[in-house]
Amino acid sequence: MKLIIISNRLPVKATKIKGSYRFARSEGGLTTGLDSLDMNIERHWIGWPGVDAKSDEDQETISRHLKEKNFHPVFLSKKEIKEYYEGYSNSKLWPLCHYFFTLIQHENSHWESYKRVNAMFADAAKKVMEPGDIVWVQDYQLMLLPKMLRDINPNVSIGYFHHIPFPSYELFRVLPERAELLSGLLGADLVAFHTYEYMRHFISAAERVLDINFELDEVRLRERVVRVDALPMGINYNLYYDAILNPKVARIAYKLKKDYRDHKIILSVDRLDYSKGILHRLKGFAQFLENNPEYWNRVSLFMIIVPSRDSVESYSGLKTKIDETIGSINGIYSNMNWTPVHYFYHGFSFEELCAMYHVADIALVTPLRDGMNLVAKEYIAAKRDTNGVLILSEMAGASIELIDALIINPNDTTQIEEAILKALKMPDAEQQERMKWLQKRVSKQTVNKWAGDFIRDLKAIRERNMSLFSKVLSSDYEEEIKRSYRNSKERLILLDYDGTLSPFKPKPEDAVPTDEILETLRLLASDSRNRVVISSGRDHNTLERWLGGLNIGLAAEHGAFYKDNSEWNKNTPPKEWEEDILGILQQFVERTPRSSLEVKETALVWHYRKVDAWLASIRVQQLIESLITPCTREHLQIMKGNKIVEIKYPEFTKGSEVNRLLKNRSYDFILAMGDDVTDEDMFNALPAGSYTIKIGTLSENARFNLLNQSDTLPFLRRVALGE
Ligand code: UDP
Repeated sequence: MKLIIISNRLPVKATKIKGSYRFARSEGGLTTGLDSLDMNIERHWIGWPGVDAKSDEDQETISRHLKEKNFHPVFLSKKEIKEYYEGYSNSKLWPLCHYFFTLIQHENSHWESYKRVNAMFADAAKKVMEPGDIVWVQDYQLMLLPKMLRDINPNVSIGYFHHIPFPSYELFRVLPERAELLSGLLGADLVAFHTYEYMRHFISAAERVLDINFELDEVRLRERVVRVDALPMGINYNLYYDAILNPKVARIAYKLKKDYRDHKIILSVDRLDYSKGILHRLKGFAQFLENNPEYWNRVSLFMIIVPSRDSVESYSGLKTKIDETIGSINGIYSNMNWTPVHYFYHGFSFEELCAMYHVADIALVTPLRDGMNLVAKEYIAAKRDTNGVLILSEMAGASIELIDALIINPNDTTQIEEAILKALKMPDAEQQERMKWLQKRVSKQTVNKWAGDFIRDLKAIRERNMSLFSKVLSSDYEEEIKRSYRNSKERLILLDYDGTLSPFKPKPEDAVPTDEILETLRLLASDSRNRVVISSGRDHNTLERWLGGLNIGLAAEHGAFYKDNSEWNKNTPPKEWEEDILGILQQFVERTPRSSLEVKETALVWHYRKVDAWLASIRVQQLIESLITPCTREHLQIMKGNKIVEIKYPEFTKGSEVNRLLKNRSYDFILAMGDDVTDEDMFNALPAGSYTIKIGTLSENARFNLLNQSDTLPFLRRVALGE
């Protein structure tokens, strides 16, 4: 078993100097987290090496060098970087996920390239991946990859982590490629986000776009379960906490403190990005200066901006605006002894950054949107023995955890101004108290814990999937069923109708039996050793009209009516439905567009197959709540089924029908097939040794699972004919 990480970039940078390649390993948070994984497992990494290697010779040299470290490069051309990376990933998905709707660029060629490059990553993985391996895909550049990997090899564990926000469905739906992206992600066993809000948005988008239903954090696809989770990424806490013990860091910190001893330092650190709210922050700071002249000469903002994505169009204009705004603030307020904004447009070394974190009185972290924001966590960790206040945007994923920070709305420059003032005035004791709680959290939820939690979750869901998958009706199981059928003399064959023999139709009345259904039932019924019974929730008139001409048993309304030896029997005298129950149901039909009511003699069914998923989930709960009192009074049962809520007499279930069929008769072969919740009663009531088969989704109660409804009739024919 191997662990294979796949990310857009390898944690290494290759540069060509005078004809030969140099390789520098870049230690991002992810690398640290993975290195500390408490697992004795071979690790591989697939990604772009960050260099445009055109010739085969160059590519071979790089591959050979990286192979020693189990790094597998995917070489991208300049065009691919432009279209897949700068284009689809950073000019479409990035602005979309950060709610910058107007910055989204639609280019068909970008999407084509995105698909092609994802397929190139899949190809690279194909060469490394073996059954049983764990594959962990990272981030929005590779959203199609989980499904591509699943198609190549269904027997690997696939996890996906989305490092940026996942937007609300109302925004996500604008993407023409929304269905492909969501299906791509659902190729994974585990899809995880930093916060439960992103997770909620993802579930809502997947339900609406793909017409699937989650139960809490899981969705059952045909052959497996996909789990969604919120696992906030952390940092290597000790690295930052201990940094000040490093003499180099201590020296820089000492000098900074000395140079600015009469000043309060506000620190801001970001990549150049419109999502970081840099202009709003500067405006908030300018407002603070304007309204609080007593702080002139005493407070400076250190603004570190790391150049990023400068070849993406929307970034170049931002830099100019930032330069102008800083120039204007400094132009107004600077004097011989004081510059309000110290501006750095370049990256800092780790030591310099830690010294800044350590010394800064305030960290001003105000992104308009940010998946997590690690700067906020690093600032907290670096506060070993110094005071400090974190001002944090509520739009950063980190704000869910860091509740002891001063949380602000970054769009409101007055809140930024007030938070700066509050932080400057905050007593030492309060600063220490808040910092203690923040450090407690950040030191616990480290990057090591994050990576460990993810892999543990992924293994657990994979094990569950393996055990569910072992029920899928294989050819070996089918042979066993056929053998038992051949060797038996008294057979009971119990079949559900909708979703088993016939596919679901938008309108229930359209599911009229096809010739294929009728012929298959005739074939089964023609063997005198077979007792064939259709056990359905439908009313007896419909069953009689559709299937009455066949020589088979019928059970309608879950056994409240049954037809044996060509005669219909009623298990209960028909009763008028209570007006208040009918009234409630009718009211829900009126209030819920596209829902309908089916009135049967022993059951009432509210159908909501075509209703919007969100509205349906509310209405189902409301309906059940409204029905509890009258149904308890009338001794009626309320059941949730496949897009239905059913009110029925509890005496009749598909289980009670089984008991009737088993009374006074014994069988040496029993086969039962069904797809819905009500069929679980049938599976449960049958004796051990029966061949119980759940159609579609997986079942805990049935022994086997047939993935496609369309396989039911061919399977039955093969059994009947012994083919
Ligand atoms: N960082 C850096 N050099 C710098 C400034 C920042 O390496 O000069 C690092 C910083 O320590 C942090 C990361 O860049 O780990 C920024 O991560 P964050 O989650 O805050 O934002 P992102 O850039 O991922 O959107």
